Amino acid sequence: MMHTLEVDLGDRSYPIYIGAGLLEQQGLFAPHVAGRTVMVCTNTTVGPLYLERILGTLQLAGAKAAHSVVLPDGETYKDWPTLQRIFDALLTQHCDRKTVIVALGGGVIGDMAGFAAATYMRGVPFIQVPTTLLSQVDSSVGGKTGINHPAGKNMIGAFYQPQAVVADIATLNTLPDRELSCGLAEIIKHGAIADTDYLLQVEQWMPRLLARDAEALALVVKRSCEIKADVVSKDEREGGLRAILNFGHTFGHAIEAGMGYGQWLHGEAVGCGMVIAAQLCLRMGRLSADEAARLKKIVIEAKLPAIPPALGVDRFLELMAHDKKNDAGAIKYVLLSGLGKASTSPADEALVRQTLTDLGAG
Ligand code: NAD
Ligand code: MG
Repeated sequence: MMHTLEVDLGDRSYPIYIGAGLLEQQGLFAPHVAGRTVMVCTNTTVGPLYLERILGTLQLAGAKAAHSVVLPDGETYKDWPTLQRIFDALLTQHCDRKTVIVALGGGVIGDMAGFAAATYMRGVPFIQVPTTLLSQVDSSVGGKTGINHPAGKNMIGAFYQPQAVVADIATLNTLPDRELSCGLAEIIKHGAIADTDYLLQVEQWMPRLLARDAEALALVVKRSCEIKADVVSKDEREGGLRAILNFGHTFGHAIEAGMGYGQWLHGEAVGCGMVIAAQLCLRMGRLSADEAARLKKIVIEAKLPAIPPALGVDRFLELMAHDKKNDAGAIKYVLLSGLGKASTSPADEALVRQTLTDLGAG
């Protein structure tokens, strides 16, 4: 069973294929790689699990040659020296402008390999093979690629769309539980900002999703990609609407930064950030107590933290003021007006302070 979804971006449109066992489907890769040299970028965790399999599929799909580069694993390696290793591998193998780069891994590999594809020889074709739930529902859709700088995350990058995304649900069977929950945070977010029916489905299916039921996961990946693709196709370069995808992220980024990157995973911080944002919406009269409580319950059921760390209210506000998504200093919040409807708005600082204090962040 395979789902196909078309991301509608004019002449940069591309398909997303979703299903279990797609790493073995040579027919999905053949139109993009037949007669071409391919460079698979992966890391030391994902490589031993899936690299041989995809190289075999690429050969069967008619690739002229299939090379690979295996990078160290971790967000700290989403950096310039590691990017350079991709270019080194491409140049060593005499890869030309027709070479196809394949990203096999989570969002770190996808962002970095995508940026390499955007810049190598001024741009070569690129296929995303996301292997984390987060990368399947989030980072592989939307065309943002890039690396971190010591001064900030994702500071160097480009918008660059892939030729195709192949999301093999079977790869999620080896994903650590915490990483699975991180993907669920973004999935809950998609329901909360755009689709209450979907939020209800995610709520009802939570046990199946946690048990990695392939059918439930595939349908959820599909719906989440649809929601993100819909937002992105209306606002590819983040002029306005795309900002609603940051629901939970303003508070979440403060938690990630305040605790020290890597202590709380991104999705964990976003889960908790959504609980805080919902509480703020409740104080502002935008959500009912039932709605805020329901969102919190879904976050907890996804095995995500719902209680913010006691960073102190001043520290929270200071960290949020540094968020790069802000406009000219004013903190921009993504707020719900009822579940399923989101918009960006400033918020009264006193209400934000009360919200954080109530939740124990003070
Ligand atoms: P990740 O790439 O670090 O993967 C998480 C961990 O899981 C890593 O240790 C990885 O090696 C391992 N892993 C991956 N697939 C596995 C599998 N199938 N089995 C076992 N282990 C596996 O993290 P992520 O959450 O996928 O992505 C986070 C990154 O994505 C961040 O750098 C973030 O900035 C970026 N991101 C980008 C966008 C975008 O629009 N481009 C959106 C969201 C996030
Ligand atoms: Mg996110």
